[in-house]
Amino acid sequence: MIFGNGIDIQEISAVEDLAARQPNFITKILTNTEKQTYDQKVGKHQGEFLAGRYAAKEAYSKALGTGLGADLNWQQLEIANDEQGRPYFQQHPRQNDLIAHISISHSGNMVKTEVILENMPNTEIPVSVNRPAWIEISKSAVAHNIKFVREFSGAKRFMAILKANAYGHGLPQMVEAAREGGADAFGVATLDEAIWLRHFGVKEPILVLGIVEAEQVKLAWKHQIIVPVANLAWLKSAQKVFPMESTNKPLLVALAVDTGMTRIGIRTENELQETFNAINRDPRFKLHSIGMHFATADTNNEAYFEQQLERWHTLTDELEISADVWRHLANSGTALWHKNPSTDAIRIGAAMYGIDSSQGALEKRDLQPVLSLKAKLVQVKQVEADVSVSYGATYTTDQPTWIGTIPLGYADGYLRKLQGGYGLLPDGRHVEIIGRIAMDQCMVALPEEIPVGTVITLIGSAGGQHVTLEDLAERLETIPYEVATTLSVRLPRYLVD
Ligand SMILES: *Cc1c(COP(=O)(O)O)cnc(C)c1O
Repeated sequence: MIFGNGIDIQEISAVEDLAARQPNFITKILTNTEKQTYDQKVGKHQGEFLAGRYAAKEAYSKALGTGLGADLNWQQLEIANDEQGRPYFQQHPRQNDLIAHISISHSGNMVKTEVILENMPNTEIPVSVNRPAWIEISKSAVAHNIKFVREFSGAKRFMAILKANAYGHGLPQMVEAAREGGADAFGVATLDEAIWLRHFGVKEPILVLGIVEAEQVKLAWKHQIIVPVANLAWLKSAQKVFPMESTNKPLLVALAVDTGMTRIGIRTENELQETFNAINRDPRFKLHSIGMHFATADTNNEAYFEQQLERWHTLTDELEISADVWRHLANSGTALWHKNPSTDAIRIGAAMYGIDSSQGALEKRDLQPVLSLKAKLVQVKQVEADVSVSYGATYTTDQPTWIGTIPLGYADGYLRKLQGGYGLLPDGRHVEIIGRIAMDQCMVALPEEIPVGTVITLIGSAGGQHVTLEDLAERLETIPYEVATTLSVRLPRYLVD
């Protein structure tokens, strides 16, 4: 948010006159460091420099709304030039909470300056930090899974799929874990997710898996993000909005081929050939990769898998794709349960998170779960028999019972249907979730008096016992992907070993 802005214009000759008349003027306006720069300048450059500093400090005071005087002193403001020669505030009294942007321009005898003061993002506002309920992400499990899938499939390049807040695992934590684990590229669902990764410092290739609106390609180009070309019409629209001057740095595109997923991608040979040619002819575009997506790779439907693979060959075998173009066909199911149709690159989500996307239908692979969901008991009390627990009084104790309250509920993604399920005490004993799960809290039946602060594991392992995303998915009659992506951003995520 902008805090304030100020503009000031000075006549250079008038400032020079002032300096000549009042010997103290220069040392009043300039700090010692600025004075040294001033002394090194000669002729009209001295006057320009002095007038520029004078005007910029005036502009700062206007932006702050105080004026120079009792509240703000000239010497508190120091302007330096960065390596590119651009001025910036080396020192100003509000540098802890305001960012000062400055511009100084000269024209003839005039110097014009503008200062914009911007509020610093407030890092003190807790979004999800101070809470006795949290998610842990195991770095070593991610590294193990990446290594396992890479070796098992023989793929040269591992593209880590981080869409949807990294399958609910937390984007910042998973980027770090996947990079340490050796991922070569990243895949996300939306342009914003991709830009977010760039802001996070990711230099590796980033592919957007979903269609980006043609109007947005400039933004993708600016951040060097790879976008899919899923039909010829899209390419034509993108060509219209894309500026000619960008030829020195082309827009990276990935051809999406539809072989039977019937979601995005080109279905026919003619359209594919035409689109392929159009990309190659246009120097503003560069084909980065070509891929397809299997619909049944993590099921027993081998026939449909083979049919899609055959279609892929029919569609692409005739294309003269150069060797540096990545081919990526495999998702987790393909990499884990099929002969890898291309050892070039694989796009892996589920398996990297240690999720069995077949939910036990296919042979078990050596994957480690990555995510744990934990919370501390915040209250423990004993109630007598015949006491109802939580909304709707759906649960009534049949004997004196120790009840623990957990500060986590359906708004965190621990859904109401999980009532009757269980969490784990540190020693592995099961504690049943009793009564309705509320928005932010739920209750467990404890085997005895357990101290407040004891950690209950709702997903993960404790004392040799396990609760997996797959277990929860079964109770919720859904798939583990949905369970993980439902975990809300209100839960802090921490990287652990
Ligand atoms: C989500 C997605 C993947 C990753 O799938 P997993 O089964 O989680 O490995 C790969 N490719 C595309 C196009 C996707 O949308």
